[in-house]
Amino acid sequence: MKKSPDTQKLEQILRSSAFSAAGFMGTDTRSLAEIIDADMAEVARLGYTPQQIAQRMQQITDKAKSALGNWIKINDTHSAMITEVKGRIPCPWPHAGNYAKRVTTLQDTQTGRKVHFSDLNIHLIAEHNFFEGRGSAFRVEPKQIVEMLF
Ligand SMILES: [Zn+2]
Repeated sequence: MKKSPDTQKLEQILRSSAFSAAGFMGTDTRSLAEIIDADMAEVARLGYTPQQIAQRMQQITDKAKSALGNWIKINDTHSAMITEVKGRIPCPWPHAGNYAKRVTTLQDTQTGRKVHFSDLNIHLIAEHNFFEGRGSAFRVEPKQIVEMLF
């Protein structure tokens, strides 16, 4: 499939390290469209939409915000904590909007398993169906996040 100039430019931005340490694509050699298609298929197979996943992530972030950097109980088996770095990061897609550099860590208190995600991850999943490339520091693995969230 031939890529439009806009898509080419976006992919270039996503692969560059200007925004985040390893870029949004990590070591993933697949195209943006391939990454999104594969993750959308996986999310559908798991029985959810990206918007449902993002909404649940947002609820957890909102709850954890009130704990001011301490662990807070989300339910009987999960707790969450916020780490916030000064500054904001823009969405790499061509639209206005930037996001606090806030990271939510969600922990399964029974297994010790943790996942982390940023405010930008929530936006990228909800609006762009983008979970980031494999090897990216902020890649959200659909199966893993669904198991932790629902
Ligand atoms: Zn965006």
